[in-house]
Amino acid sequence: MDKKNMHPESLMMSYGYKPELSEGAIKCPIFQTSTFVFQTAEEGKAFFEVAYGHREQKPNEQLGLIYSRLNNPDLEILEDRLGLWDKAEACAVFESGMSAITTVLLAFLRPGDLLVHSSPVYGGTDHFINQVLTEFGIHVLGFSAIDNEQTIIEKIEASGKAKRLKLMYIETPANPTNALIDIQMCRKIADRYSDADKAVYLACDNTFLGPVFQHPIKQGADLVLYSATKYIGGHSDVIAGACLGNKELIGAVKALRTFLGNMAGPWTGWLLLRSLETLKIRMETQANNATQVADYLANHPKVEKVYYLGFLKDGTTQKAVYEQQCLSPGAMVSFDIKGGETEAFAFLNHLKLIKLAVSLGSTESLAEHPATMTHVDMDPEEMKQLKITEKLIRLSVGVENPDDLMSDIQQALDFV
Ligand SMILES: *Cc1c(COP(=O)(O)O)cnc(C)c1O
Repeated sequence: MDKKNMHPESLMMSYGYKPELSEGAIKCPIFQTSTFVFQTAEEGKAFFEVAYGHREQKPNEQLGLIYSRLNNPDLEILEDRLGLWDKAEACAVFESGMSAITTVLLAFLRPGDLLVHSSPVYGGTDHFINQVLTEFGIHVLGFSAIDNEQTIIEKIEASGKAKRLKLMYIETPANPTNALIDIQMCRKIADRYSDADKAVYLACDNTFLGPVFQHPIKQGADLVLYSATKYIGGHSDVIAGACLGNKELIGAVKALRTFLGNMAGPWTGWLLLRSLETLKIRMETQANNATQVADYLANHPKVEKVYYLGFLKDGTTQKAVYEQQCLSPGAMVSFDIKGGETEAFAFLNHLKLIKLAVSLGSTESLAEHPATMTHVDMDPEEMKQLKITEKLIRLSVGVENPDDLMSDIQQALDFV
């Protein structure tokens, strides 16, 4: 039986780790070390030649480690395991989701280039694209889930920068309304503007559903990004990020990571290795709990509307996109409470089991108020258009007993 054919969840405890290299320890130790000893000067020379791309690795050549900014066993094993879920050739792990995202943007964009991105995107990403990249002379153009292929192409043409389109960046499902962006459609647009001299790459932030419930590479994305702080880490105790893709693109990303020095440390790598062992069971339990919570909310008289991927209506474009690219509705549920900020805050202030905090994807359930918290920096007009209003509450459903979650929601709604 070839290990490569096994399911990722079967390989998360062992893949890429050789106990015989670590005194037989069943678990990968934390390699808390900054540098690695070369056996000979010739060996050190050879490692550097390959690491800096001065020559290719020879077929049977065993390469050793150099320095923890370039490579470290905890990170390399983590990268190999993380790649299995998305069937990616290569992976680079970062000290945060933001460092993975910003490194990718800096690796592939140059002054004068055009970046086309979906909107809304994560607040930090939005800030970097619109406030930082623009200062470096990069042109940016947003579109939303309401746009179709034709209207996006029209926007690109109208920008006058179509020839300089270099990167499409999408986040789907979008936060906090769960609006979906069609990954295959974006692939088509990227291909339309690619030619022999210039490839247009498609990058997808897959934090909300992946890596268990959505595989953007299979849908045509070149690069997949994660805030590993969320589902991958899953315990609200670590900040980390990752980028996946083919060897060539990840090579370029890792080259920049080496010089920015924003790789994750060994302790973070070790925590994520532990988290990956339970990734699938956590995400499945969370998704099951979310179905029950969403149903409960939809039937509650104090709730106006529930934004949940399991409630998309047959025959709609969003439902078709869902069926094409999502394997589960996931565990993010947002809802409009009847009323406004006062009612929303009364609910949030009376939760007992569910914690009032931003972030998501953890074992414990979290609730927050996007309009005054995660999305407060957004343009008010755009916020209105995207239905991020004072009555909207976002829930990240955890692994607790679903009956306890529903009773907590019920008792908090009683105070509204
Ligand atoms: C949290 C988050 C990020 C940023 O990740 P950090 O690990 O906090 O740097 C990026 N994208 C999405 C969708 C997120 O939820």
